[in-house]
Amino acid sequence: MIEQRLQLPNGQSIQYLLDLRARRTIGLKITANGLVVHAPKRISATQLQQVLLEKSGWIQQKLALREANQVAPMQWQDGEPLLFMGQDIVLTLQHHATNKAVTLQGNQLLVRSPQINQPAFVARKVLQWYAQQALPDFTRRVELIAAQMGEKVSAVGLSNARSRWGSCNSRKQIRLNWRLIQAPPHVIQYVVCHEMAHLKEMNHSARFYAVQASLFPRYVQAEKDLKALSPILHRMA
Ligand SMILES: [Zn+2]
Repeated sequence: MIEQRLQLPNGQSIQYLLDLRARRTIGLKITANGLVVHAPKRISATQLQQVLLEKSGWIQQKLALREANQVAPMQWQDGEPLLFMGQDIVLTLQHHATNKAVTLQGNQLLVRSPQINQPAFVARKVLQWYAQQALPDFTRRVELIAAQMGEKVSAVGLSNARSRWGSCNSRKQIRLNWRLIQAPPHVIQYVVCHEMAHLKEMNHSARFYAVQASLFPRYVQAEKDLKALSPILHRMA
C-alpha cells in the first residue's frame, strides 16, 4: 500500500492508502487507518484523481463520522472508565508498598502497587486480569455449546488479534479475542456460537448460518451490537 494525498479544490486534502491490484474497478473503504483505495494496477493518476474527487463528499462524510465515533485511548489513570461483561467499572489505582493481585470490588477494578504511576505497568496488570477472567468464561461457554451440539473441541485459547473476534480451525481449536470479555454476555455468547458453528461448516454458507441460528437465534442483533461496541472494545491495545 502506498501513502497518497488527494488535494481538494477547497484547499483541504485527504490522506489515503492506495492498494493497486489486478481488478477492474475502484473500491473505497474507510478502515481504522482511514481511507483505503483499491484500484486497478494500470490506472493513471489523473483517472484516479478524477474518481476520488467525484466521491470526495462521501469520503469526507465517512471520515468525519469515523472521527466522531473514535474513542480516546486508555491513559491508565485512576478513575478511568472500563467495561467488563457489559458493566461500567472504574479503574482504581492505590499506592501500596507491595504488588497486590488486581481485584474487582463492586464496580472498582483495584490495582494496588508501588508502580501505579507507570501507565505501562498498570496496563499490563489490567490486561492480565482481563485475560484471566476471559479464559474460564469462554471455556465454559464452549463446553456447554459443545455438549449441546454433540461436538468435541480440542482446545480453547485466547487471541489478541486486532481485527478478529474469534477463529476455529479444522483441528477443532477455538480461539477467542480476550477483548470480548468487556462485552455484554449476549455478545460473547454470539461470537462463541459463531465459532462453534464452524465445527459443522467451515465456511459462511447458508448451511453455516442455519447452524449458527440454531445455536444463537438472535445473531443479527448481536452482530450489530458487537460492531457498535467495537471501538470501545479496542480501547485497550
Ligand atoms: Zn466465521
